[in-house]
Amino acid sequence: MKFEPQQYRIPDVSMQPFIDEEEIHDILRQAIPEKERVKAIIAKSLDKQRLSLEETAVLLNATDPEMIGWIRQGARQLKERVYGKRIVLFAPLYVGNYCSNNCRYCGFKASNKSAIRKTLNTDELIANVKALEEHGQKRLILVFGEHRTYSAEFIAETVKLVYSVKKDHGEIRRVNINAAPFDIEGFKTIGESGIGTYQIFQETYHRPTYKICHPSGKKADYDYRLTALDRAMEGGIDDVGIGALFGLYDWRFEVLALLRHVNHLEACYNVGPHTISFPRIQDALDYDLDDQYQVSDEEFTRLVAILRLAVPYTGLILTAREPEHIRREVLAYGCSQIDAGTKLEIGAYAENPEVDQNLTKEQFKINDDRTLNQVIDELIENDYIPSFCTACYRKGRTGQHFMEFSVPGFIKKFCTPNALFTLAEYIIDYATPETAAKGWRLVDQSIDEIEDESYRNKVRDRVERIKNGERDLYF
Ligand code: SAM
Ligand code: SF4
Repeated sequence: MKFEPQQYRIPDVSMQPFIDEEEIHDILRQAIPEKERVKAIIAKSLDKQRLSLEETAVLLNATDPEMIGWIRQGARQLKERVYGKRIVLFAPLYVGNYCSNNCRYCGFKASNKSAIRKTLNTDELIANVKALEEHGQKRLILVFGEHRTYSAEFIAETVKLVYSVKKDHGEIRRVNINAAPFDIEGFKTIGESGIGTYQIFQETYHRPTYKICHPSGKKADYDYRLTALDRAMEGGIDDVGIGALFGLYDWRFEVLALLRHVNHLEACYNVGPHTISFPRIQDALDYDLDDQYQVSDEEFTRLVAILRLAVPYTGLILTAREPEHIRREVLAYGCSQIDAGTKLEIGAYAENPEVDQNLTKEQFKINDDRTLNQVIDELIENDYIPSFCTACYRKGRTGQHFMEFSVPGFIKKFCTPNALFTLAEYIIDYATPETAAKGWRLVDQSIDEIEDESYRNKVRDRVERIKNGERDLYF
């Protein structure tokens, strides 16, 4: 059967499942990576156009090293041309690891009797948020197991509490969430607490694999999870993040399914996801899957480059699951956000900051355990501008990533100066002397590069105000 581009067998109806496995397999089977076609598809992406599933499948099927080189180079070019040098930083904060599901890859699964279970109480939560603020974090993602304890009301109260915690110049300016799916009412409650992005990963879009990986608990319901973000949208949360856990099933299938999810949200709600995550399976306590679909480093970095080209205006999130050298490479392909200073052990930011990972208290193993300052230092060394900017979210400029990409001059006018303001705050309040020296050089040089003189002076003036003690300045 031959497909017309973007004609789906399952139509995009809100709240209805939209993944047709056979369709995705057919698209993959029919995509032939001829050189001229591959070049044309990359050129289309560099022209800032979204790729269709068929076009993306052509890139996914390319195995010729020369073509793979073009794909990687294309992603690098797109990043340089469009996004510039900013990398947004955040930290995950695990609030509780009680869970009634049995995801076979996860250390928090209910059947794992060696897991040490805990939910942060109010004092512990405050202590952890303060500890994060003391390092300079401004953006958090709160992570929860799936358990009746973590109701929508509990999550909403937790969010409000996190926003209320201040330490010296420290404050959390954006709280994102990664938690179980809710009904529309639940999403309303959570949305009203002022969250940034609601993130939920389908893990695998392949139904038979999903069934194997999620044998019991509420998460065993594939469709309820697949339609979670439809309910979030209906409940008023229009800033959402999707993701697939790479290593459960064929990575090519998952990339196309992620795009299918993007298309579904755009078709039904006129807004795509703010971010896509692509966690790769890591070791965990009681890990219970074979490695048939393991994704190699080469495949992983390639799939990120392909995702970048396929959805040029969607944020890509890379986490500390990946080791330093992979993070470095993948950053060049246009990831927009990374975590840093990450600790997964519940309560560890306040209690055990120096202690190594203990998998009885953690969901999985991470491979980049550098401090926030170390990561910032390396970013600056590599000519990136670390950013804690939260301006768009607080100014109500929704669809931020889309605007960055599509509104001419948006990055120059808003994103770069705002990144510099948050970097200046970080340098003054938290950086080591060596990082501070490098940081100021970068700030000064970046200001000098602003072409418009009056704008350049405005930015310089604000940095001076920050040096004089003002905080939280943004355009
Ligand atoms: N309980 C919530 C849920 O399942 O949606 C929160 C999810 S969990 C705390 C965040 C994500 O971590 C999961 O969605 C999954 O993709 C990922 N994850 C779980 N086990 C993992 C492992 N062994 N290696 C890497 N990522 C893992
Ligand atoms: Fe529970 Fe989430 Fe882990 Fe599944 S991935 S066992 S739902 S914490």
